[in-house]
Amino acid sequence: MFFQQIQIDNTAISLVKGFLPQAREYRHVFALREPQPLIRVLEGSVLRREYRLETRTTNPDLTGQYLHASIRLSSAGILQIEGILSPDPHRYPTWQDPGFEAIRLQPCFLRAPQDESLRLPGAGLLQRGLHYRDQLTPAKLRCVCVCDHCQQSFSVQHLHAGQARGLYFYSDDSHQTLFVPTSRLVPLPSPSQLRAQPAFLRQLEAQLPVPTYGSGAYRYYNPFRCPHCRALFVDFLGNPFRRAQEQYGCYLLNHTVQTLGEEDEVAFQPSRNSEVFAA
Ligand SMILES: [Zn+2]
Repeated sequence: MFFQQIQIDNTAISLVKGFLPQAREYRHVFALREPQPLIRVLEGSVLRREYRLETRTTNPDLTGQYLHASIRLSSAGILQIEGILSPDPHRYPTWQDPGFEAIRLQPCFLRAPQDESLRLPGAGLLQRGLHYRDQLTPAKLRCVCVCDHCQQSFSVQHLHAGQARGLYFYSDDSHQTLFVPTSRLVPLPSPSQLRAQPAFLRQLEAQLPVPTYGSGAYRYYNPFRCPHCRALFVDFLGNPFRRAQEQYGCYLLNHTVQTLGEEDEVAFQPSRNSEVFAA
């Protein structure tokens, strides 16, 4: 099969037509020369993706550091880039070491970019390849997402609702994320109650705290939006069935998740018409 191979020049990854009989993984150490460098993916002279490596407030300048990266090109034509930061060009921490910083870039669909533009708007994080079904993503790995609308990148951290045992909610402007532990929900609602009982959901949402900055309220079906242009990134309004499956909740890099306090409780009155509650 004729497909792309890879050439790397500084932080630009160029895809070159060539024979690629099977999936391939390239190991590369990017020498970073700016506080927040850009990783570029080009197909010929056409810029396909541009990822800005935004920084944590605890490590605000990446100049002089190295990104030890794995660049995987699948036989399906998907380019995946992931790396770990290190001050050393030859050594880097593992996921088991304390204080590591790992970065995963949103995969790029090379073979059919027109399919990508049709399939991805509003898609979930698993569909976008930012997380995997069979592997829990460490909290210290951040993702660099790319907006389907403005094509600008933005960095997000995540929480896993199942692992953390709770529900997350995005604020109306998606500037903030709220986490409610299941122990604070009395009784614990089922996904079908949240999906099929609007009155129940309104009762739940009315008891949630308000965001501590920004405007609006927390709602179960609020989407996660691009912080640059406000376009929908993870769209639960248009895809309500995706909501219960989307275990990873996002929050912007260097933001914190608002958590319902120990003393707070969200209580519900079972609906008389609810078979789910009766069960
Ligand atoms: Zn955007």
